[in-house]
Amino acid sequence: MEDQTALFKALEETDELAILWIYDEKEEGIPWALRATSHGLRTRLTAFWHFNELLKTIGHQAFLVVGTYKEVLAALRQQVYPYDAIYFNRFYDHAGKAIEAEAAATGARVCPHEDIMIFRPSEILKKDGTSYQMFTPYYRQWLDRFIRTPVSGEKPELQIRAKSAGVTSASLTHVLEPVSEIDLEPEHPVLKGGYSLMKSKWRTFLEDRLIKYSEHRDFPTLQGTSGMSVYLNTGMLSPRQFVSELIQYPGHEPLLRQYVWREFYMQLLSHHPHVLDSAMRPEYAGVRWETNPDYFEAWRQGQTGVPIVDAAMRCLNHEGRMHNRLRMVAASYLVKDLHVNWQLGEQYFFEQLADSEPALNNGGWQWSASTGTDAQPYFRVFNPWQQSLRYDEAATFMKMWLPEVRSAPAALFHKPDGLAVFGYPRVIADHGASVRMTKALYQEARQGYFSNKEDK
Ligand SMILES: Cc1cc2nc3c(=O)[nH]c(=O)nc-3n(C[C@H](O)[C@H](O)[C@H](O)COP(=O)(O)OP(=O)(O)OC[C@H]3O[C@@H](n4cnc5c(N)ncnc54)[C@H](O)[C@@H]3O)c2cc1C
Repeated sequence: MEDQTALFKALEETDELAILWIYDEKEEGIPWALRATSHGLRTRLTAFWHFNELLKTIGHQAFLVVGTYKEVLAALRQQVYPYDAIYFNRFYDHAGKAIEAEAAATGARVCPHEDIMIFRPSEILKKDGTSYQMFTPYYRQWLDRFIRTPVSGEKPELQIRAKSAGVTSASLTHVLEPVSEIDLEPEHPVLKGGYSLMKSKWRTFLEDRLIKYSEHRDFPTLQGTSGMSVYLNTGMLSPRQFVSELIQYPGHEPLLRQYVWREFYMQLLSHHPHVLDSAMRPEYAGVRWETNPDYFEAWRQGQTGVPIVDAAMRCLNHEGRMHNRLRMVAASYLVKDLHVNWQLGEQYFFEQLADSEPALNNGGWQWSASTGTDAQPYFRVFNPWQQSLRYDEAATFMKMWLPEVRSAPAALFHKPDGLAVFGYPRVIADHGASVRMTKALYQEARQGYFSNKEDK
């Protein structure tokens, strides 16, 4: 409500406006049936509820309708409200592409707006006009452009011309099934306190913790990161607000750099839409994953026998949160120790992360699986035992999520089967042997790909 491009334009430019979220589950990627259990969907619903409360203060209201874009747009136009234009913010994922196509097919005027990034994907390109696939040169150009055209911290003045189009739940119910306000509850705890708590959390971080960001950001128990991802991804905080407020503070560079990863992955998805369906690097699209369902289930439930992975997964399942360091460790473990196809992990994170976002989630998984843009050679593997020793030496985080071994000495959490005497599950895969297998699987995929290419 403070900075939302399509909404502002529609309020300014139209006489009557109906505000709608069409939840097309196929395109959005989380089945509607999971709305009670998926943290990712519940946070979106909670954010929508908060947004709606603010809309009401300016005499508008938003409706949520579940159905395919095609059906809902057609039923609305023919039977509820004969709209002549459609305003929306542009997204680069499946849902964004689908709504653009379906909106155009209605015959109404289509008004897409750029909102979710500081610089559009087409604004930051290599000299030859192609897109960046490596982060550092992308970041250099992003920064260079940012210094030349800084983002204004001033909030655009909201000019409201549009009246509410008079679409009501009753008129929608006639042809569609709108989601009632009751269905939006319960509020997801991650977004408790709505916009006002978000603002105070952000200010506290900027004033007290930003300065220690580089030092603390990798330690799950230190609250060293901003915690803003869920607000950025649900649209409660705009990227312009985030960046313009951040740069007011000394020592902002490391966090700004980290933020630019967000735009890097978004532009990558925009230029290479196939990444949502396959490996970014084609030579790794054909890895022969073992995908043992028992292993996948043990990983999901936090029962792999590797305490750092298990604690991270139980925290995810319970709260919808996972620290960035632990996302890398848990993802690497699934792919490189358990040899499960990274796309299964990607889908699970997408459903369960409160801050889930298609481009960033995909980017994180492809990075972890070494199928993406990273410059590192394919055999980079996280050793979970070293990671837990380095980032949770006193086992504080692990003990929080593994109550059954809370009394065990910290040193045992960093050794394979160290906790077996306490009845903790034994490791399901030996790290050394698994890594050798991973290298062989990746090597085989590479060789197969390049020899096929030569044959052709
Ligand atoms: C396997 C995997 C899956 C991931 N899935 C998601 C996801 O679905 N949604 C999501 O927002 N992030 C995802 N990330 C990136 C990262 O873990 C989160 O952005 C971060 O943990 C959010 O916490 P924060 O807001 O406190 O981050 P901070 O460290 O405070 O960073 C501020 C902002 O910068 C951006 N950012 C920071 N780190 C990264 C990164 N590595 N990649 C891209 N952007 C980054 C985010 O927008 C973040 O909110 C994933 C990472 C991995 C390894």
